[in-house]
Amino acid sequence: MPGLVLPNETPVYDVAIIGSGLGGLSAAIALRRQGHKVTIYERRDFGGEVGASLSVASNGSRLLQEWDVDIRSAKPVILRSLIMHDWATGDVINTYDLGDYRAKFGSDYNNFHRIDIHNVLKETAVQEAGKGTPCKLEVWHKATAIDPEAGVITFENGNKATADVIIAADGIRSGSRQQIGITPNFVPSTSCCYRCIISADKLRELGLEEFLNNNAIEFWGGYGIRKIVLSACSDNNVVSCYCFYPAELNGLREDGWNISTTPENLVQTFPGLDPKILTLFMNAEDIKMWRLYNHDPYPYWVKGRVALLGDAAHPMVPDQSQGACMAIEDAGALGIAFSPKYGHLSVSEKLKLYELTRKDRATRVQSASARARTDLSERIGWSSSTDRPGKLTIEEICGYNMHEHVAQLASQT
Ligand SMILES: Cc1cc2nc3c(=O)[nH]c(=O)nc-3n(C[C@H](O)[C@H](O)[C@H](O)COP(=O)(O)OP(=O)(O)OC[C@H]3O[C@@H](n4cnc5c(N)ncnc54)[C@H](O)[C@@H]3O)c2cc1C
Repeated sequence: MPGLVLPNETPVYDVAIIGSGLGGLSAAIALRRQGHKVTIYERRDFGGEVGASLSVASNGSRLLQEWDVDIRSAKPVILRSLIMHDWATGDVINTYDLGDYRAKFGSDYNNFHRIDIHNVLKETAVQEAGKGTPCKLEVWHKATAIDPEAGVITFENGNKATADVIIAADGIRSGSRQQIGITPNFVPSTSCCYRCIISADKLRELGLEEFLNNNAIEFWGGYGIRKIVLSACSDNNVVSCYCFYPAELNGLREDGWNISTTPENLVQTFPGLDPKILTLFMNAEDIKMWRLYNHDPYPYWVKGRVALLGDAAHPMVPDQSQGACMAIEDAGALGIAFSPKYGHLSVSEKLKLYELTRKDRATRVQSASARARTDLSERIGWSSSTDRPGKLTIEEICGYNMHEHVAQLASQT
């Protein structure tokens, strides 16, 4: 299936992306900008959950800037520090000042409401404006089978699609992995997570406006399973909390992402916690449970015309706040591998270059996230390689130069 050839000899490929989460949409934007014809297939429409906060450090935000994503319209809160509180009193016990983050790392450290950044990425992918051909989005297309060599996807609705390249961005429960011969090896984490949100108006009413304008990610606990992570997003109109607790406390065996609980249960899960946070919990909205899993890395990400991307490739626990950033980095690497600079490579060589660029780095973040689950001193920002050589640090993550990395790898192969 040779693609069309542009005057500068860069082939134009038909790209099919399975999944329109943050990873799939980022890949769509990166690839349309290189002139490729992209169709995104999503199993649902977009009536799914609204979500909570999502911090996108400079390794993700620099790529959003490079792709002309209108970051401002996703209403970010720009993070200035990390704050550690005493579990019981809420007193501030440590602050990590992010300093002149933009000057150092080339972008802001943006904290989004997940739904806001998802909407902006979707618009950027499909809109007429912008570089390249607008992507097509086909909803109610659940992929059920893939032929990786022929590049054919079969959907539950009976349709089929053929593409030069298939990007499987179908999330942590990806069915595409099995289609390329990977059997995921994973175990439930001993930790579980509730997330809740509360409006700025409600916080003011409760006299808790101090949490609105700190421009920070704030932590309680984190040495052991229990940890609260609080931050404001959506132009400081929403505050979101991730609340980690021992999974053994779950009486229920339910699974999935859409399990709700009551404010009372949330409060009972965290005995002895700062009373201000317990008050916030009693008034929180939309409290959802997230089961967490520890996945072993997969032996490969690419087979034939198919490449895994995002959580489908490297599911990780959320304790480095890097899952979406890694998906955005994956998309960035694909965009570079499919750019005119590497136009001389075949599809299979480009996908190999993608895997080579991404797999080791994402696997390192995956294992550092697992360590940070119960040890806050492993979390970038709080971590320091002087504590223990080899710790993942903010410099390694936020100062990463992907263009140089790809060029270096390409010159060696
Ligand atoms: C509690 C928590 C907090 C987090 N906080 C952060 C943070 O602060 N910063 C950060 O960078 N990351 C964070 N993450 C991680 C981040 O949310 C994920 O890594 C990221 O959303 C993964 O995106 P994705 O596109 O790979 O997968 P998903 O967002 O899961 O998208 C997959 C898409 O594929 C679709 N799909 C699935 N199967 C099919 C099929 N067969 N056919 C068609 N479509 C299909 C789904 O409907 C979905 O739209 C957090 C995660 C959790 C759990």
